[in-house]
Amino acid sequence: MAPKDPAPAQPASNFIRHIVEADLAAAKYASRRWAGEPGEATRHASGPLDPARIRTRFPPEPNGYLHIGHAKSICLNFGLAREFGGACHLRFDDTNPAREEQQYVDSIIDVVKWLGFDWGPNLYFASNYFEAMHRCAVALIERGHAYVDSQSAEEMRANRGTLTEPGKDSPHRARSVAENLDLFARMRSGEFPDGAHVLRAKVDMASPNINLRDPPIYRIRHAQHHNTGDTWCIYPMYTFAHPIEDALENITHSLCTLEFEDQRPFYNWLLERLHEAGFFAQPLPQQYEFSRLNLSYTVLSKRKLMQLVEEGHVDGWDDPRMPTLAGARRRGFTPEAFRAFAERIGVSKSDSWIDVGVLEDCVRNHLNEVAQRRIGVLDPVKLIIDNYPEGQTETCVAPNHPQRPDLGTRELLFARELWIEREDFMLTPSKGYFRLYPGNRVRLRYGYVVECTGCEQDAEGRVVAVHCNYFPDSHSGSAGADQYKVKGNVHWVAVQAACECEVRLYDRLFGVSNPGAGERDFLLDINPDSKRVIRAQLEPALRQTQAGSSCQFERHGYFVADRVDSKPGAPVFNRTVTLRDSWAKAR
Ligand code: ATP
Ligand code: MG
Repeated sequence: MAPKDPAPAQPASNFIRHIVEADLAAAKYASRRWAGEPGEATRHASGPLDPARIRTRFPPEPNGYLHIGHAKSICLNFGLAREFGGACHLRFDDTNPAREEQQYVDSIIDVVKWLGFDWGPNLYFASNYFEAMHRCAVALIERGHAYVDSQSAEEMRANRGTLTEPGKDSPHRARSVAENLDLFARMRSGEFPDGAHVLRAKVDMASPNINLRDPPIYRIRHAQHHNTGDTWCIYPMYTFAHPIEDALENITHSLCTLEFEDQRPFYNWLLERLHEAGFFAQPLPQQYEFSRLNLSYTVLSKRKLMQLVEEGHVDGWDDPRMPTLAGARRRGFTPEAFRAFAERIGVSKSDSWIDVGVLEDCVRNHLNEVAQRRIGVLDPVKLIIDNYPEGQTETCVAPNHPQRPDLGTRELLFARELWIEREDFMLTPSKGYFRLYPGNRVRLRYGYVVECTGCEQDAEGRVVAVHCNYFPDSHSGSAGADQYKVKGNVHWVAVQAACECEVRLYDRLFGVSNPGAGERDFLLDINPDSKRVIRAQLEPALRQTQAGSSCQFERHGYFVADRVDSKPGAPVFNRTVTLRDSWAKAR
């Protein structure tokens, strides 16, 4: 699969919006009652329902940090609820005791809030529903819809059949209700070791859909759970737990990615059986699938992200190069950019690749509007104005934003010695070079026009200082300024006032559009130049930059004061994105 062209700038409506609109127009939920506290009761409780309300949920498993793919799902679920005046739940799907940790819970809460979404009182943990799920399982057994299987894992696998062959019934499938209830109770009480028995739904071993061939719904796991401790030694399987979680919370539209499409028949089967048993009222939650986000130059698999962190290829989960939302935040990406990105890529059922340039563009567009302009000299060399009196200084006024006078102006100190970019001088200019070279004139942005007179070099021929003379009547904005026609415009910072800071020039973590394509080891595709740390000379106002705040360094790109490493009065800057897409050519 190759990355595809970006989606059109104007977002189209999408099939999920259409479904929601149709359901609301039909007042599908008018007869429903919201449950009180989900998990408190498995039967519907109190409260009239507003027929204009939908409920969605974002259900992460707290076993890793959220990434850019999750942002698509978050924006979709919370966005629909916001658009249609409904509610979106944040639910931790923590039914697997082995892999879940509090640090992941905390970071997920943090990042969903950061993206600008609010779940109000609707924060839930699936593990709080274990009692309710257990009651559902018992009800299935009582009604002949579930049985305890005692085959070994290998026997179960062998009897499951294949895509072309039906499965074989387990010899335990015909156990009586009483025997099943007894065995299930003993599973719960801890009598058996892991794997001795499983509880299976009794659906159809001959179904063409393998997910309906009596899927396991409870297994024995003698393990500590981060929330319930050692209360339980049996745990519900995801395919059983998830529909029940949705139903307990009165979810109307349960949105998930396409790989769950084949699970939908079981989702419906289960909720219908539980409805018959008196647990959940119609209309039951409906599952809808959309395609997951694939992003070029990026990996989004939790396993690979874990490997990058654990093997030290990056500086942790929130490394600004990581596609985690914690990393993107530290990099200086904004919630507004993510929300615009989600709108721009849309929602559909077809598998698509989005170029990461689309996301970077959304970041640029937003920062272009809000980020104040500042001056940073990233590769400094001294410019000496020989005819400017030693010891004299003056101030030049620069706008904080070229299109937004409301953001005001600031003063820049001008003096005899300035820092300029090394690349803004050439001893022997190449064709089409308009900046400083002996005999040429340029404007020092917001200041004077100068004419270059030469340079000083060290023993190796490296330029250590550039010399020039200035024209006192050429100051920007003064009456005489117009008589000087120059093609080059160079930024600068006065040496005596400059603030020297660490700046990290981040670039894409992977150097190819599809890292690890085919059988290739994705680690081989890491871009060796994805992080360069330099010391830059910045305009003095930047010394007071608040951690997490963004600005544009003129001519360079957007930068953010690192939220972790910045200290008051001593910021460290991360390059968020360059002004133009330097990777566009590679596409
Ligand atoms: P795993 O299930 O392997 O642990 P996951 O990436 O599916 O990993 P979850 O925590 O289960 O992680 O995901 C939470 C929600 O985010 C799910 O509804 C899932 O469908 C959605 N999601 C995950 N990855 C993407 C993606 N790349 N694009 C869109 N949605 C995604
Ligand atoms: Mg998942």
